[in-house]
Amino acid sequence: MHIKTLLNYTTKFKSFVFQNPSLCRDSNRILIPVVPRKNSKPICSRCGCSDTVYDHLKQREFLLPPIWNIAVVLLYTMRRVNCRHCSKVVVEQLPWATGKSPVTKQFAAFLAFWARKLSWTDTAKSFRVSWDIVADAVTWVVEWGLANRDIDNVTAIGVDEIQYHGGHNYLTLVYQIDKHCRRLLWIGKERKKKTLYMFCDFMGTKRCEAIEFVCSDMWRAYITVIAERFSNAVHVLDRFHIVGHLNKAVDNVRRAEVKKLKDAGKPAYLKKCRWIFLKKKKRLWGKPRARLRELLNMNLRTVKAYLFKEDFDHLWTYKSVTWANKFIDEWTKDIMRHRSLPELKKFAKMIRGHQELILNYFRAKKEFSSGIVEGFNNKAKLTIRKSYGFRSDKLREIALYHTLGNLPVPGITHRFV
Ligand SMILES: [Zn+2]
Repeated sequence: MHIKTLLNYTTKFKSFVFQNPSLCRDSNRILIPVVPRKNSKPICSRCGCSDTVYDHLKQREFLLPPIWNIAVVLLYTMRRVNCRHCSKVVVEQLPWATGKSPVTKQFAAFLAFWARKLSWTDTAKSFRVSWDIVADAVTWVVEWGLANRDIDNVTAIGVDEIQYHGGHNYLTLVYQIDKHCRRLLWIGKERKKKTLYMFCDFMGTKRCEAIEFVCSDMWRAYITVIAERFSNAVHVLDRFHIVGHLNKAVDNVRRAEVKKLKDAGKPAYLKKCRWIFLKKKKRLWGKPRARLRELLNMNLRTVKAYLFKEDFDHLWTYKSVTWANKFIDEWTKDIMRHRSLPELKKFAKMIRGHQELILNYFRAKKEFSSGIVEGFNNKAKLTIRKSYGFRSDKLREIALYHTLGNLPVPGITHRFV
């Protein structure tokens, strides 16, 4: 079988013909010259009309996916079109090229596929291209996906925030959390009111009105805009965020107590047991569980906070809004009576301040479990962590859309996977 046969099988460029390939042993590349078919006219890259050739530019190289890890390079002499429609001389449009990049659409799609499984650096190394080429490929695929996705029929969204750059900066991420489609919809800078207004503008009034459920954290800016702009929706404060706040409160108690014990010259009972107190008891086994048993016998503030936290978990088992409401009333009352737990009191106050919205979780029949937003949040964090080498905000966003956006991929004749 000839390489030409393989090329014609995987890629079809109607108005172009592959010529005989040659293997360049020194550079470990297969070079394939491509020429326009006889009598075919070049297409203007501005308007898409075909017209006569004005002149030829220098030969360019375009990378195709490698064969047996040997680079495959198309060699093509670009033409310029004397376009009557644009009344200008314009460079021609090629069916395989993605702008000025030296990568064909086929190779871009191939690299982008692997860049979801490997880091961008590993993808670059594995396929012997530069990191910038991988970045360009992913950018092209993501931009194509964003331009070609359908954002109608969104009825449930989750609003989440994520920190980056060592926690000093925030991004607001909006996910679609419908059963039929779960994906990252939109990314905005910071977590201000303005940020969510921008999301609403992006969606348009009609699509905003169609939204029935919004899940979010207890962040005031979000709550205000959601009440204002998604007036048709049930606003649910989701479990994942509430539990996050409670865990933080318990950990703050522990930190303060560690310091106090140390200052008083007492043994460090609470050192290295952060996770013991944050994990649910029913998921704790072996040595950590024995350690917990030991700690529970001590008269420590952290232990009290922990017991309250374990008790709070009961809330999520309720089916009835009335009983859930009663539980919150009683639980917060118990906390308020405790003198020694100001950290939890702060949490209890926050819960009381948002009780109605928390109860919406039960009104929505727990349809939007915390798992969805939590899962997205973890994946987004991982992407951000992996992306510390990204040189720009734009690439960070591209990486997030690439991993979480569930975007359509450009339809290329041959599927590599
Ligand atoms: Zn034109």
